[in-house]
Amino acid sequence: MSTDKLRDEIIATVRQFNRSGLSYGRTGNVSTRTTLGFLITPSGIAYEELQAEDLNEMDMAGNVIAGTLKPSTEWYMHRAIYQAREDVNAIVHVHSPYASGIACTRKSIPAFHYMISVFGGVSIPCAKYATFGTEELARNALAALADNMACLLANHGQITLGEDLNTAFRYAGEVEILAHQYCISLQAGGPVLLDDVEMELNSEKFKTYGK
Ligand SMILES: [Zn+2]
Repeated sequence: MSTDKLRDEIIATVRQFNRSGLSYGRTGNVSTRTTLGFLITPSGIAYEELQAEDLNEMDMAGNVIAGTLKPSTEWYMHRAIYQAREDVNAIVHVHSPYASGIACTRKSIPAFHYMISVFGGVSIPCAKYATFGTEELARNALAALADNMACLLANHGQITLGEDLNTAFRYAGEVEILAHQYCISLQAGGPVLLDDVEMELNSEKFKTYGK
């Protein structure tokens, strides 16, 4: 896909942030892989005002190769994921209320619902705490993700990956819904968790789901 088309895709996605309830104001960030590196949203601009030319293109050495604004403070995390994960072409990071609420307990979301296996593991893991915008946070997120497509960031929010931006954005919505359902199940007496054998079966079924 051309860089112009990817820019339009990012703008269309961040415009849905407020409406979807996934992120308010200026929090959260989005990126997509390009042939030279990745395109990423800038730091501190309200999403309704963001234009395609405001996005930064960065190379894998961390240089801004297109764009005049400051890139998102979380660019280390985006770069680390693109470097480590060839299967990932897009990343969405948001501070959605339920996922962030659980992330503040520094606990993973366990296998309470079969949909957890959509992300490729038996839980939505929670990355160890590190200050926002640091290489340490990038390392912690990468370690928690392993080959999963989603994780929580302790005392912060959630991050989702995808083969394309539509998938990464849809996953962010699914993480938030699951986090909400998990909170309800805790209030209702605590969920009965699915075992690894059942989760493996769910993962296998998802590999052919909708194809
Ligand atoms: Zn954040």
